[in-house]
Amino acid sequence: MSRSKELFEQAQRYIPGGVNSPVRAWKSVGMTPLFIEKGEGSKIYDVDGNAYIDYVGSWGPLILGHSHPRVVKALKKTLKKGTSFGAPTALELELARLLMDAIPSLEMVRMVNSGTEATMSAIRLARAYTGRDKVIKFDGCYHGHGDLLLVKGGSGLATLGIPGSPGVPGDLVKHTLSLPYNNIKAVKEVIEREGRDIACIIVEPIAGNMGVVPPKEGFLEELRALTHKEGILLIFDEVITGFRISYGGAQKFYDVKPDLTCLGKIIGGGLPVGAYGGRSEIMRHIAPQGNVYQAGTLSGNPLAMAAGIETLKILSKNGTYETLEKRSQFLWNELKNIVKKTNIPAYVAHVGSMGTLFFINGEVTDFNTAKACDTHMFSKYFREMLKQGIYWPPSQFEASFISLAHSEEDLENTVKAAHEAFKVL
Ligand SMILES: *Cc1c(COP(=O)(O)O)cnc(C)c1O
Repeated sequence: MSRSKELFEQAQRYIPGGVNSPVRAWKSVGMTPLFIEKGEGSKIYDVDGNAYIDYVGSWGPLILGHSHPRVVKALKKTLKKGTSFGAPTALELELARLLMDAIPSLEMVRMVNSGTEATMSAIRLARAYTGRDKVIKFDGCYHGHGDLLLVKGGSGLATLGIPGSPGVPGDLVKHTLSLPYNNIKAVKEVIEREGRDIACIIVEPIAGNMGVVPPKEGFLEELRALTHKEGILLIFDEVITGFRISYGGAQKFYDVKPDLTCLGKIIGGGLPVGAYGGRSEIMRHIAPQGNVYQAGTLSGNPLAMAAGIETLKILSKNGTYETLEKRSQFLWNELKNIVKKTNIPAYVAHVGSMGTLFFINGEVTDFNTAKACDTHMFSKYFREMLKQGIYWPPSQFEASFISLAHSEEDLENTVKAAHEAFKVL
């Protein structure tokens, strides 16, 4: 038995499902997970000594690849001075400044420890600021596991939210409305009817948690116009897209300015982090400046700040996003070519360095179309890729990420592997 299998068997006795986040269990591809020993550049190494080219990148944060020497150095330097003080440090200010310089809609920012915390807190703030309770989200968008956002789309528009998990009381989600992504008509109808009760719309400006689903042309612009008219706050959840799509995130890429922005993943350089920010007129309602309570023992942790700062400094250099774009174009175009030459129904979606290979006949534009994918075919593809040393996300509904550490050779090897995989699908 492999060491990974041994460890997984033991882990299941101590940790529910053997993992500390569900998707890591590889259930949807019918396998058991690899236990990882280390990561370096574009590659990860499992506890059995196998190397893989990694397209998970810790689910988004590792845009520089694993253990980038400069990030490691910054961490070591910070570590020597202590790990946490529960008191302000200059590092928090430095990261806040970097975020604001990059993202014009951020006039103030609050650091938290995860993307989940960022979205929960942003919504609390939006409700307090507007004095309204209702929240609109979109089917297939993920905003962390906060109760009020763990909601399934009801049948029919604007039905009451249905809890997305046992343990979430119906009462807690009755103010959450889930609408189909990319469907501006559905949003209009709800706003016409109950716009005055709606505090905010929260949206992934590029959906990345049902596989990558880009916004249709005009979708974000219309959300902006509609919310503006009704005094509804527009929240962009850029936990994935922030510093992934451009140095200023998806909002810069599409040139749409939200009222509030949630960040995470990349801004922590691989350490636990989150942040939310926006117009200072709104942000100043947060305690202790205002009375909207939100706190965190480890918020603004020096190690997370140091890793984030170093990551952003590297990303801010000229040409980084062009390099990512070029490599990304190569990989996804080659995959498109492979798809074209077979009769296996598949569809490639990518924006910048995030993308998904969907096994479906036709386009994926929302959660309903995403759900129509052939997940069985995806599992086969995943297994064939893994056999050839490619660590692809173990679910049809996750984004694959290219990092600056992926070399042209890595990408060529990946294309070769995909070519072989398609032969046996
Ligand atoms: C990952 C993610 C979150 C949650 O972040 P955590 O740090 O896992 O809590 C929220 N929103 C989006 C868009 C994400 O991709």
